[in-house]
Amino acid sequence: MVLSDNIKNMFASFAPETQMAMDRYTSFRVGGPADLLVLPSTVDQVIALIKTAQKAALPVTIIGGGTNVLISDKGIRGLVVVLTRLKQKIEQTTPSTSTDGHASNSVHLTALAGERLGSLCRYAADAGLAGLAWAAGIPGTVGGAVMMNAGAFGSDMSRVVTEIEVLDLANLETRVLAADSLQFSYRKLVLENSIVLKVRLELTRTDTQTVKEEFYRNLKTKQSTQPVSQASAGCFFQNPPGDKPAGFLIEQAGMKSARCNGAMVSDLHANFIVNHGNACASDILNLACQVKKSVYEKFGINLKEEVKTIGD
Ligand SMILES: Cc1cc2nc3c(=O)[nH]c(=O)nc-3n(C[C@H](O)[C@H](O)[C@H](O)COP(=O)(O)OP(=O)(O)OC[C@H]3O[C@@H](n4cnc5c(N)ncnc54)[C@H](O)[C@@H]3O)c2cc1C
Repeated sequence: MVLSDNIKNMFASFAPETQMAMDRYTSFRVGGPADLLVLPSTVDQVIALIKTAQKAALPVTIIGGGTNVLISDKGIRGLVVVLTRLKQKIEQTTPSTSTDGHASNSVHLTALAGERLGSLCRYAADAGLAGLAWAAGIPGTVGGAVMMNAGAFGSDMSRVVTEIEVLDLANLETRVLAADSLQFSYRKLVLENSIVLKVRLELTRTDTQTVKEEFYRNLKTKQSTQPVSQASAGCFFQNPPGDKPAGFLIEQAGMKSARCNGAMVSDLHANFIVNHGNACASDILNLACQVKKSVYEKFGINLKEEVKTIGD
């Protein structure tokens, strides 16, 4: 989309990038240009940006760490808001009493949406707070983790989130939503037309040694079973219902190490599609299609994408 000078002027105070290639903002390292891209660092800036986009009638796309998205080769029309700079010091508070009135070991950690999940997880381990060590090694932001209900080792965000603050795009008001009003499910939070701004987690005080051991054990397992140093977006497909994970089905369908130009089904973990450096989004999508077809033909199972495809 060619942006008029008038629209460019409306965004000038946000120091936007124009026609910025999105590959540098995603862990897949692919993606065409965003018409306008801004990295706000405060909640006020996020609100002002969205207001301006609405006045200019520009569509808005929110990106966190870009670790669960596949951005098309043609890129994204309108405004892209990347939230990785939206952070401040992690806040630790102790609720005075538990809900049943007894003193508890609960500790709340509050972070802005752009905080890295990895930093929050390390903070918890260093402070001897149990409940988040499953997240060791998961890249991306806290806001993205809430939206995706990120999880591993039998746990996920829904188990630790107590409340989130969101910007409602319908009226540009912020609202605090308590955990019991949130519809989390497997790798999903149902949250329409809103931006996650702040997240509060409830963890449990325990001894630092125990949490650190769990953290490093999980990190080691992840590093030895997943191609963490290659460009990817994590598991490409959701695990289907039943006891056979997507990676197993893909491997059994003979697709481990299958390629489409620079895209390849990982030979370490078949549910990861990796970019060997010169893949474009269409290579990854083509390969994902071949994987789905092979799994369907062998098992009659229709794999569902976990990775979000965004853009033209
Ligand atoms: C090597 C590797 C390992 C991984 N391992 C795991 C794993 O073990 N478990 C797991 O669950 N995932 C895993 N992932 C996937 C990914 O890291 C998680 O889903 C992560 O939580 C996504 O966060 P993000 O900030 O990168 O989100 P993004 O990819 O930026 O965004 C994901 C979606 O959320 C939306 N979004 C992001 N932030 C906000 C916000 N603040 N408000 C509203 N919408 C928002 C985006 O529009 C998009 O639709 C892995 C990825 C990689 C590359």
